[in-house]
Amino acid sequence: MLKSYYEILNVDEKASKQEIKFQFKKLAKMYHPDLNSSLEAENIFKEINKAAEVLLDDEKRKNYDLLRQGEIFQKKYTKKYSSGCGFEDLFKNKKEKDNTIKQTPQNGQDITVNITIDYSEAILGTQRVINIARSIVCPRCEGKKFANGQKCSYCNGLGEKTENRKITVKIPQNVKNKAKLRLKGEGQYGKYGGLNGNLYVIVNVDNNDELKIKDDIVYYDAQISPYLAVLGGNLDVPTLWGQATIKLPPLTKTNQSFKLINVGVLNDKTGKKGDEIVKILIQIPSSLSDEEYMLYEKLRELNLKKKNAKTFEYKN
Ligand SMILES: [Zn+2]
Repeated sequence: MLKSYYEILNVDEKASKQEIKFQFKKLAKMYHPDLNSSLEAENIFKEINKAAEVLLDDEKRKNYDLLRQGEIFQKKYTKKYSSGCGFEDLFKNKKEKDNTIKQTPQNGQDITVNITIDYSEAILGTQRVINIARSIVCPRCEGKKFANGQKCSYCNGLGEKTENRKITVKIPQNVKNKAKLRLKGEGQYGKYGGLNGNLYVIVNVDNNDELKIKDDIVYYDAQISPYLAVLGGNLDVPTLWGQATIKLPPLTKTNQSFKLINVGVLNDKTGKKGDEIVKILIQIPSSLSDEEYMLYEKLRELNLKKKNAKTFEYKN
């Protein structure tokens, strides 16, 4: 609703510049913050200045009058103030009127955001920064869509602006897939004293992790080369808490398991971590270089010789 600057200055709509100037000076003296320290006076002083700024500028006043013609004024409203009551009364009535028309509180809408985390993050807890766009009342025109009698250029006459906000969401330990986290009051702003909406974060747990978890034990299948299995050596394996190294002994067999102690899931009740079981799977190379092929051939020959030698031994 557009405030009438004529009513604020208590002048007729046809008032001359001189009359407006005179009335403005009179009211400004009454409500100047230096002379009147009440908060109400300060607000009135601002109103008076705003009104005078428009009505004392020919161009602005013309625009303002045009805009006003387009506004629908209730008969009651215009009648009430056409009798030319004192400024203080006017302001009081205006306030009362504002209260009666005052819109009912509207609660802000909820915002829902989906995020995806991996399994180890779900177990250990993590955090994500998310961007939220919320509409706020335009700070320049205060939602009135007009400023100085013209369409507000800051919000393009919408009365609202978009506020982009970064929010850090803490995801607790042991969060379940599709868990819905609530951040109270972080949704859309409420209007006319209504409550803000909530922000809901739906946590999707990506299950394609190579670490399988059951209770507080982690299972990992390690694919290793035949020569690492035969000769032994260091094998790097992932754990929930970072990388660990297993020292494989020579002649490690497929399906052989190794236990890494104290790198499993942290048990909330006991405060202790479980173990990780690493199962060895020997992976046959998918292709061989000529040299590798020859070396494997050589291994086979050596193996055959060994067998024949044994056979020979038994024969004797
Ligand atoms: Zn605006």
